[in-house]
Amino acid sequence: MILVTGGAGYIGSHTVRELRKSGFEPLIFDNFSTGHRAFVGDTPCVEGDIRNPEDLTVAFSRYPIEGVMHFAGKALVGESHVEPELYFEVNVTGGCNLLEAMNRTGVKRFIFSSTCATYGEPATVPIGEDTPQQPISPYGETKLKFEQALKHAHYTDGLEYLSLRYFNAAGADADGGIGEDHAVETHLIPLIFDAALGRRKDIAILGTDYPTPDGTCIRDYIHVTDLAKAHVMGMQSLITGGIQSQALNLGTGKGCSVREVIEMAKKITKKAFPVRETSRREGDPPMLVAAVDRAKEVLGWTAATSDLDQIIASAWTWHCHHFQNHE
Ligand code: UDP
Repeated sequence: MILVTGGAGYIGSHTVRELRKSGFEPLIFDNFSTGHRAFVGDTPCVEGDIRNPEDLTVAFSRYPIEGVMHFAGKALVGESHVEPELYFEVNVTGGCNLLEAMNRTGVKRFIFSSTCATYGEPATVPIGEDTPQQPISPYGETKLKFEQALKHAHYTDGLEYLSLRYFNAAGADADGGIGEDHAVETHLIPLIFDAALGRRKDIAILGTDYPTPDGTCIRDYIHVTDLAKAHVMGMQSLITGGIQSQALNLGTGKGCSVREVIEMAKKITKKAFPVRETSRREGDPPMLVAAVDRAKEVLGWTAATSDLDQIIASAWTWHCHHFQNHE
């Protein structure tokens, strides 16, 4: 079985679905602090917290785990500035608890949900994996620390791992039922949809004076199903062997500005909604776009469903269905 921590969350639940499609047996481990019970379905699940080693012991002693995909963690840049200790406790200490549990039971394959936030504000784009990692938020710092812990676990304990550094995850599974629903929403695409549905009065563009062609931030949006597939391919490669433990970027290699995302959302939703231009959000780099050759070389993976219209159309379908059924 493949243990999927955070398997009831946004990216975790999509990966559970892809694992099953590829013939793996996932086991979800989630404390449901932000994950959704409705996303679990009939997948086996242990309710537990990575900060409690006993909870991990339950999972590792009861199930025949052959690999781990680690999504559980705190993932909001803004919150990490307010509660940095919590981010270190969950993302670093919790992650190390997981490594210890694996070490005790001889489980050697690990895929880590890392982030482009470990790069900080790189001077040049596209951003290759060898770009110096200089995070500018406690969130990015904790993800980098855990990447380093993995490197050491590789040398000392023989752990075989991939750290997958995502750019901007977005979109939803075409089969429905799972998608992006954060208790506190800070992400651009779901916030635009809330404005389109009248759940908020407008969408704010956070900064129009960036050194980019239209003055707004540029991001590399990657469909969550593409991300999920990369995880499955990564685990398959770790199982068959012949792959080196390393970090890989997951993105499209193409950037879209905030204005371009809003325009595409207007086209797809066919809704008019107010757009307000306001000041920058602290800590937002002007441009984050991935260099994607290495994931292609190592895994044979490239984004397949991550054109902006595909991302926005799939996310819109989910958003309408989910929020209209829950209110
Ligand atoms: N953004 C925006 N308005 C919002 C939320 C986000 O203009 O209400 C911008 C933000 O400045 C960033 C981009 O949209 O440039 C993507 O932000 P998001 O929070 O979705 O992801 P992040 O890049 O922070 O991981």
